[in-house]
Amino acid sequence: MTESDSYRLGLLDGDGIGPEIVPAAVQCVDAATAAAGIGPIEWVRLPLGRSAIDTHGAAVPESTLAALDTLEAWLLGPHDSVSYPEPHKSRLNPSGTIRKHAGLFANVRPAKSFAGSPALVPGTDLVIMRENSEGFYADRNTYAGTGEFMPTPDVAIAHGIITRAATEKIAVAAFELAMTRRKHVTIVHKANVLQLSTGLFRDVCREVGADYPDVRVDDFHIDAMTVHLVRRGPDFDVIVTENMFGDILSDLSGELAGSLGIAPSLNSSLTQAMAQAAHGSAPDIAGRDIANPIAMILSAAMLLEWLARRHDDERLAEAARRIRTAVDDTVGDGVTTGDMGGSASTSGFAAAVVAHIASAG
Ligand code: ATP
Ligand code: MG
Repeated sequence: MTESDSYRLGLLDGDGIGPEIVPAAVQCVDAATAAAGIGPIEWVRLPLGRSAIDTHGAAVPESTLAALDTLEAWLLGPHDSVSYPEPHKSRLNPSGTIRKHAGLFANVRPAKSFAGSPALVPGTDLVIMRENSEGFYADRNTYAGTGEFMPTPDVAIAHGIITRAATEKIAVAAFELAMTRRKHVTIVHKANVLQLSTGLFRDVCREVGADYPDVRVDDFHIDAMTVHLVRRGPDFDVIVTENMFGDILSDLSGELAGSLGIAPSLNSSLTQAMAQAAHGSAPDIAGRDIANPIAMILSAAMLLEWLARRHDDERLAEAARRIRTAVDDTVGDGVTTGDMGGSASTSGFAAAVVAHIASAG
């Protein structure tokens, strides 16, 4: 918090539709925090991505990482590192570099359907807690030097890592979250086949769960879980799982609840958090003011809720509630972007949300 009784938040523009949806989220945060009685947010704009290659010679400038070390929360636009010119082209997006640098081990991905907006599984309201620092994604495995390698040109080997320490952290985050929701945690693994690794994940989550007697716990294999989500998505509350399973399940559940354009996410450690839409930079629709800003706006609301818990500041929770209600009301008015079947522009949608925030009592 700053001396003026407000907050400093980092702002990292994205590629593609980033420069359209990030300002939309900023407008909503500014309107909602003002309405909740918080002084003006101090936005700290940091260079990142395609534009930073031109201005700073790197997609992720060292100065940006150093500045992030001084912040506890920031908004991040989507990035498209595959389109960067050589030698900046990379498999690891700037967001991956930042997640690694800041140790943001939890990827929190809610999937909630909107009343009045089409959903394959209406009534879905769940949160996926995806462990984001290890597992079966080769780029994150640092224990053996490399997570993926080819001993001969015709053989490729990938390994997965599950540790008690990392599993405990994501499990605690999942159970703490469940205590604020419907008090139900579902552990997803594949312990019948990957017995040692995902078996350890399941067992450690169960051990952590023993400290939360009020929380109901069940567990499923990843393959069975996809079936349960499609058949009875509304039965699930908090799902905790390893990296790759979480990646797959969160796209599935996001789509079951609605479109990719409404799926928010938060990446967090115990001390820092980053709001990031679950979707990518959507280069196919960039620059046309038609992208859906809901995912970015709701990611910003999640960031305010995280800050509210951390600072025990009810005004931030109030600001987040105002944003959520205003988004619901805007969609309820039939104002939606093309991906949701409407004809609103990105900026028009944001203006409608801001108007709802301003007119709410
Ligand atoms: P990345 O590797 O960056 O995640 P991706 O291949 O997963 O990229 P996205 O950029 O997420 O792709 O886009 C997938 C599809 O969803 C595209 O057709 C895109 O236009 C659409 N899309 C993504 N985000 C939005 C949004 N906010 N509004 C409308 N359409 C979107
Ligand atoms: Mg993607």
